[in-house]
Amino acid sequence: MKGHAPRKRFGQNFLVSPGVIRNIIEAISPHPDERMVEIGPGLGALTEPLLARLGRLEVVEIDRDLAARLRQGFPADRLTVHEADALAFDFAALGPQLRIVGNLPYNISTPLLFHLAAYADVVTDMHFMLQREVVDRMVADPGGGEYGRLSVMLQYRFDMERLFVVPPGAFNPAPKVDSAIVRLRPRPAAALSARDEVAFSRLVAAAFGQRRKMLRNNLRDLVDEAGLVAAGIVPTARAETLAVADYVRLANSLQR
Ligand code: SAM
Repeated sequence: MKGHAPRKRFGQNFLVSPGVIRNIIEAISPHPDERMVEIGPGLGALTEPLLARLGRLEVVEIDRDLAARLRQGFPADRLTVHEADALAFDFAALGPQLRIVGNLPYNISTPLLFHLAAYADVVTDMHFMLQREVVDRMVADPGGGEYGRLSVMLQYRFDMERLFVVPPGAFNPAPKVDSAIVRLRPRPAAALSARDEVAFSRLVAAAFGQRRKMLRNNLRDLVDEAGLVAAGIVPTARAETLAVADYVRLANSLQR
């Protein structure tokens, strides 16, 4: 593969389907003046068509060999290569109204999504390729097995849309699972009504601590049954039955 042996530890599955690449670029729809960063550019499958439409592009790549190839392959005044771990990267340093894109390394997708959620304030939108199963959890409605902490925390902060599914054959090496493209748009600040987001996040984590248990058990350390009832929550309900707004209301009730 252009002389690069894919590294499993970096989740390297390179896009090779021209049709899928075209569809992703169309979904992103880059415009010349936009500020964009690509996570995990790899061998440049998306980088090249993105740069064809943009004036400049920043990329964050952890693999030293791939970072070096990208620096060689593209002009430095148009492509800025950050050889860095996206999990620790400060995306706010790139400036406001940032568009973030990437075919993400699947082995770190959940922690990476939580890291990126913290930059919603400086982001215009994000487009990612992830395992289909992760995307389905992100956009899941309450009530089912796919709805969990990831759904609540991301839906609180973003409007999200699953755009299309991508089969394993679009990659080399082919992953074992289907993938999907998801779009995230930050919700307006006025819509974010949790008074203390740390407390909200702690509550949601505790609620889903043991999925099979009732809320009154999982939340025992944070709120008693009377507190749940006062916030309009049925103490014997399970975490997956509560809407995002229920979690916000409960979190806000705890601080009064
Ligand atoms: N964008 C390329 C494509 O679509 O063919 C490569 C996608 S591949 C699924 C994931 C890329 O993320 C690889 O290039 C890998 O080296 C890089 N990567 C893995 N872990 C990373 C991390 N923690 N920070 C930044 N890049 C990472």
